Amino acid sequence: MDTHAFKRSLHHSDRYNRRGFGRADEVAGSLEQAYQSSLIGSIRDNDYRLSHGRLKVRLAEAFGFCWGVERAVAMAYETRKHYPHERIWITNEIIHNPSVNDHLREMNVEFIAVDQGVKDFSGVDCGDVVILPAFGATVQEMQLLNERGCHIVDTTCPWVSKVWNTVEKHKKHTCTSIIHGKVKHEETLATSSFAGTYLVVLDLKEAQMVADYILGNGDREAFMAKFANACSQGFDPDRDLERLGVANQTTMLKSETEEIGRLFERTMLRKYGPADLNDHFLAFNTICDATQERQDAMFSLVDEPLDLMVVIGGYNSSNTTHLQEIAISRGIRSFHIDTPERIGADNSIEHKPLDEEEELRREDNFLPSGPVTVGITSGASTPDRVVEHVIQRLIALSEI
Ligand code: SF4
Repeated sequence: MDTHAFKRSLHHSDRYNRRGFGRADEVAGSLEQAYQSSLIGSIRDNDYRLSHGRLKVRLAEAFGFCWGVERAVAMAYETRKHYPHERIWITNEIIHNPSVNDHLREMNVEFIAVDQGVKDFSGVDCGDVVILPAFGATVQEMQLLNERGCHIVDTTCPWVSKVWNTVEKHKKHTCTSIIHGKVKHEETLATSSFAGTYLVVLDLKEAQMVADYILGNGDREAFMAKFANACSQGFDPDRDLERLGVANQTTMLKSETEEIGRLFERTMLRKYGPADLNDHFLAFNTICDATQERQDAMFSLVDEPLDLMVVIGGYNSSNTTHLQEIAISRGIRSFHIDTPERIGADNSIEHKPLDEEEELRREDNFLPSGPVTVGITSGASTPDRVVEHVIQRLIALSEI
């Protein structure tokens, strides 16, 4: 499919909207009530610090809702106002945050069911309204919804669209897109649907395997076994690794994406020499500002003396997981939780360990006795209201 041409024709359809409905004022009150927090506002004004008895809280200087998420959530609220009687669907969680998704359910926005990783669009009818979430949707999903006669409200973050444009450029230059991301993450699924030939690498270790292969130090069978589910159909490492471009899932660890970009640049330089490098390697910066700011703020925060960290965000939120990785890499006792209720009144905590396969882990004696400094940050899809509730629980525990 000519994805570029499809996207252009979709953008001209009168059943497609990616700019909202001009009803921002009508939804501002509901958004403020549901997601904003005066406590967090006053902590921000107090140099991101709060002292309460023996408890000190230190907030990261950039955390929580990014503008792309704010925009997507506001568009979803506007959609309900604009279509008060129509059936409204969303192809996935609008963002990776349970409280936001619950609010949408309360507004009668239905989520497309997923059965064993496959979405079931059978309930969606002509004339229904379908919202595409902040991290986008695959081109095949857009095509299906368009052909079915749905109204599409596209809240895809412009940063994500920028990555899609990047992989379109790779395709135009007959380059293979090396996508730094999680192969099953919705954003990476969407990005790869716009790519031509692609290979998804999770981290520097996987990227190094690819670089080794390019330099003739790999085994074809082992390579194909490793990347069987992470490449475009018919991918051939002997044919498709001669011209590369790098793109990423916007919420990956910035330093790692940069390292991967440099690795492939060096690799192609070694293989083809400086005169031909530009024919074999295309670099674009596709790391979003918000992700970068939150990661930078986290690196500053973990340099301070902290007794523990609480990292708040959905368990499937990639940018939140990366914030937790930063704390763990510094040896800080850090807990990733998705809702305030994970902190129990009995001073226990139920949290998600970094290992994806591991279930939630419960720990007692969460808040130590005596003076304690807690660092707090939250992922780009976490409203301030949720952070406020976490701090209130910490305050309550510190008073026991
Ligand atoms: S984290 Fe970045 S790419 Fe993702 S929604 Fe926010 S601004 Fe957009």
